[in-house]
Amino acid sequence: MQNASRGDDVYEEDEAVQALEAHVANLTGHDAGLFCASGTMTNQLAFKASLLNPPASILCDNRSHVYRYEAGGLASHSSITVYPVHAVANGGHHITVKDLQREFIADDDNVHFTPTRLISVENTLDGTIMPLDEIRAISRFAKERNVRTHLDGARIWNAAIAQGCDLKDIAGQFDSVSLCVSKGIGAPIGSVLVGDKQLIKKARHFRKMFGGGWRQAGGLAAVAHWCIDNVWPTMKETHALAKYLAEGLEREGNGAKVYIPVETNMVFLDLAGSGIRMSALSRRLEEEKGIRIGNKDAGEDVTKVRLVLHWQISREAVDDFVEVVKDMASQAAAMRGAGSAPAAEAETSSQVYASR
Ligand SMILES: *Cc1c(COP(=O)(O)O)cnc(C)c1O
Repeated sequence: MQNASRGDDVYEEDEAVQALEAHVANLTGHDAGLFCASGTMTNQLAFKASLLNPPASILCDNRSHVYRYEAGGLASHSSITVYPVHAVANGGHHITVKDLQREFIADDDNVHFTPTRLISVENTLDGTIMPLDEIRAISRFAKERNVRTHLDGARIWNAAIAQGCDLKDIAGQFDSVSLCVSKGIGAPIGSVLVGDKQLIKKARHFRKMFGGGWRQAGGLAAVAHWCIDNVWPTMKETHALAKYLAEGLEREGNGAKVYIPVETNMVFLDLAGSGIRMSALSRRLEEEKGIRIGNKDAGEDVTKVRLVLHWQISREAVDDFVEVVKDMASQAAAMRGAGSAPAAEAETSSQVYASR
């Protein structure tokens, strides 16, 4: 960062920013890139630059970040209606062409409807990977119907590493892709949008309109570039550590359950069968082991939490986490045995959205 260029990126005069944009464009098989402050911004810019002519609607998984966690930006910035798609065809793992067909709205001159203009995919989603075959099938389906495609690839890095494929194999199937460098890659700030030259030109214009044109961004681009080259290759170990954590948590006697398959770096833990209170776990982890998770003030009905691992988390920390869960689970079991309060037979609670 110290040695990075100090040009003005609003005038496209910063070398480090241009090098990063070219690097990510090259890795993903796209023509051009645009370095922005956040993944929400790169997603929102992609939609705005792709759908210039409302009325327009998009299809996306109902769990998508673009639909649930971007403060209604699609409606506000781009007058887009979202039709959330439920992953039914294959038991909820990922949406398929079959699911998309169910919700697709053709542009057939019926003025009541908002035609589908774009299909948005998220990969990874809740840490799970959309298979390459499905991505290719969705891309074909979109081309046949003449609609655009966007990938929210905030975590595409994880998907590529876990599958042992190139970023291009995934990203090359979409018209635009947003990639976060501030998540698994470990850079302090930023996301890169990639697409063709025309899309990026529009996105750059809208970025300025949103107040996201930044001048001396070279230091931020330089550290992101470094993280792609140096942190990304360590991601396999993070995935192994996530699996190791899940196995430890689910060990017999704990009564805890991991309720979404661990395919990359996320572990979704449900304490319902363990008799452990979420708030108590959160407090003990912090006080005894210096490990912070969300949910310190969670009510009794909250039993689920999302745990996300990254390259700076050690095996010792994971061992500490598992040790605390084991200890609390055996205490809860002992209390049940002694006939005091029965284990909280928690009902399904809504998923807790912790530090994404
Ligand atoms: C984090 C994230 C984003 C948004 O990134 P911000 O930089 O937090 O705005 C978008 N999509 C997914 C899947 C994410 O995980």
